[in-house]
Amino acid sequence: MNLVLLLPEDFISEQHVRLTGRRLEHIVNVHRAKLGDTLRVGVLNEKVGRGLITALDNQTVEIEVSLEQEPPPKLPLTIVVALPRPKVLNRVIASATCLGASRMIILNAWKVEKSYWKSLRLSEANLLHQRIIGLEQAGDTVLPKLYLARFFAPFVQNELPVIASQTLRLVAHPLAIVPCPACIIEPCTLVIGPEGGFIPNEIQALEKIGFEPVSLGTRTLRTETAMAALIGRLYL
Ligand code: SAH
Repeated sequence: MNLVLLLPEDFISEQHVRLTGRRLEHIVNVHRAKLGDTLRVGVLNEKVGRGLITALDNQTVEIEVSLEQEPPPKLPLTIVVALPRPKVLNRVIASATCLGASRMIILNAWKVEKSYWKSLRLSEANLLHQRIIGLEQAGDTVLPKLYLARFFAPFVQNELPVIASQTLRLVAHPLAIVPCPACIIEPCTLVIGPEGGFIPNEIQALEKIGFEPVSLGTRTLRTETAMAALIGRLYL
């Protein structure tokens, strides 16, 4: 947690917050902060700044907040990722948030296990929590948008063309001949496949709406490794 992310309901006065639970534990056990110390703080979807610890006990911490700086800019990037195993899903969402994606879409695909869609990790609360973990790691406050696309074909035919219009359209595919472009500045919509890969029909459906299959080479990478390498190559 490189930034303590504050929510509107944490405020007990205009400049003071009171925290309990996970954030209190982190401040005490990881930061080892004491009364009078300052921490990096930010308010969800607002500015970042410094927080002075004005009260601290086993139950609560109170922080006086002053916000002066804008959060870091986002990348002009939408990540569309086929739903991975639930445990991996958490890491994918937190990492995509941390790396600065503006928007994420979790997509179904032929090789996605049906049972994954029943996972509690797809609850609103968990999807929010994982993005908050990514924001705290990155020192960001702006929550990326996140949507679930439960049906591949209608999403790709009807919604993705609108979402991806005016952007560079790429689908990451280990079998592609074209290498993934590097150091771009334009907006991009990047599609990443399931752990079993996309089937040829799915690649064709994406190609039909202007997505180019691109590769990082012949090594098959895990979803979250591929995602981080792709974003790094495209933008960082
Ligand atoms: N056996 C599958 C591997 C899927 S890995 C296959 O052959 O397609 C999960 C996803 O990560 C892939 O669908 C792709 O989007 C991405 N990925 C993994 N390794 C990659 C590579 N070397 N180049 C481009 N994308 C890759």
